[in-house]
Amino acid sequence: MAGVILDGKKISQEILAELKPRVKEITKRRGRPPSLAVILIGDDPASQIYVRNKIKATQDLGIRSVELKPPGTISTDDLFHAVESILRDKTIDAILVQMPLPKQLRAEEVIPYIVDPFRDVDGFGIHSLGSLVVNRSAPRACTPAGIMQLLQRSKIPVAGKHAVVVGRSDIVGKPMALMLLHENATVTICHSQTRNLAEECRRADILVAAMGKPALITRDYIKPGAVVIDVGMNRLTDRVRVQSLFAHDAARLAAFEKNGSVLVGDVDPLAMQELSSAYTPVPGGVGPLTIAMLMVNTVDLAEMH
Ligand code: NDP
Repeated sequence: MAGVILDGKKISQEILAELKPRVKEITKRRGRPPSLAVILIGDDPASQIYVRNKIKATQDLGIRSVELKPPGTISTDDLFHAVESILRDKTIDAILVQMPLPKQLRAEEVIPYIVDPFRDVDGFGIHSLGSLVVNRSAPRACTPAGIMQLLQRSKIPVAGKHAVVVGRSDIVGKPMALMLLHENATVTICHSQTRNLAEECRRADILVAAMGKPALITRDYIKPGAVVIDVGMNRLTDRVRVQSLFAHDAARLAAFEKNGSVLVGDVDPLAMQELSSAYTPVPGGVGPLTIAMLMVNTVDLAEMH
């Protein structure tokens, strides 16, 4: 029996619809809407698309957005100078710096300078991450927070379940594991040094794949009936690989012929569909929730201010 599709797009629309009256109320009360500053350094094509989608989401909701696009060659000093007016502008509720940064800039220097804890809309700052560890209120990293919403709104129980998170990045894997732990899952975190990854994954009632490795999680890694959350977003151009992964999916193969690439997650799509009880498709699963949660964080910060 095929697993149920967890429709991230639909759930993100629900979340965004719930935000609309809150945005109206804030705008009425303060005489100005919530506002988000987005700093995009350089012209990385994927980052440009992400930023465009984030700005579009603010526009749809009536949130004010401010964009700053310094050149990719900018020095740390010049960047700090360029962001001064944003940092001083107390009408801006939330600030994000689009990752990844150009090579000459160091995230550990740039993020704490630009994003103060009270405007940390991505939840990547030390204060927000520390608050997550002790389960206190602060902006939560958007991708794992969106996955928790997806589980909750799809009525998938977490307490007492064995959750396995593959990936330990500061923006997905680690916060994901902590959020599942706070909801009383028993959590295993796996990474590139984990021995016998398939065996660990097969123990999962809830398996979260966030490695950035196209379809690394195959049939052998999935316990029948598990809930599988596929965070990975990988663009595949290798024809042989695409043909073998999507042999069951004529529409995807046609899209590949047209575009020369397809998006694939970290989980083999057919294995996930056939073995899981419920799963997030790629695209249309986790991706839309990330943006919805960014909007939630912006509105939360505006209300807090
Ligand atoms: P990172 O590259 O920062 O982290 C990847 C993690 O996966 C690391 O902890 C790494 O282990 C682990 N890993 C890598 N290879 C293996 C392996 N062979 N076996 C087990 N673990 C492995 O990635 P991110 O966390 O930023 O992102 C992960 C994926 O999620 C990417 O595909 C990204 O595009 C996607 N993503 C999607 C979002 C969405 O909105 N849908 C949002 C954010 C990310 P180690 O620590 O040992 O190196």
